[in-house]
Amino acid sequence: MCEVTVLKNGYAFLKDGFMHANCTCTVVRSPENTVIVDTMTPWDGPFIQSKLQEIGVPQIDYVISSHGHSDHTGNNNLFIENVKQHIVGFCISNNDQYYAHPFEHDEEYKLDEWMTIVPTPGHTSEDITLVVKTKTNGMTAIAGDLFECQDDLTNSELWIANSFNPEKQASNRLKILRMVDTIIPGHGGQFNVLPEHVETAQKIVDKYGPPK
Ligand SMILES: [Zn+2]
Repeated sequence: MCEVTVLKNGYAFLKDGFMHANCTCTVVRSPENTVIVDTMTPWDGPFIQSKLQEIGVPQIDYVISSHGHSDHTGNNNLFIENVKQHIVGFCISNNDQYYAHPFEHDEEYKLDEWMTIVPTPGHTSEDITLVVKTKTNGMTAIAGDLFECQDDLTNSELWIANSFNPEKQASNRLKILRMVDTIIPGHGGQFNVLPEHVETAQKIVDKYGPPK
């Protein structure tokens, strides 16, 4: 089973005419691997390093960025010593070596018995979600901007406004809501999946009709 630690809850708000945003940064420890998901902006390196020290994480095995935006990839280069892979959206690499995986054909990528990467495009063309089996919270999805925050379940404008492909995102949101018990979104705190969340997501998918 995995232990999930949120290093920082993300946020996004408008102030003085500018969007201010940073991502939720999460560490997952399975019996075999330690993973960091979404490494904030390049200005957050010292914060991440001190947090990792505080929670006793000396080594990262996989660096995952749910997608390529700068607030989700900013400190990937802190983790290059003995790392197994960097996975940025659909792109898997180590140093100058690249590994093809058919995420575009909806194929999951298993890191170990407890952690699986599920392709969930929509916010961008190449988003991924890490789904993990946890000790205390059942199945947990670390979903990046597939979900902005808990409020976007009832206020669709919050995610549709930033969506590259709303039809695709709607169907992947529904897929993840059906798969897990709790979700860590890209720009807010963790929330539990309730039956009404699934119903609402289903209605949005029905409204869009079958994917093109
Ligand atoms: Zn984001």
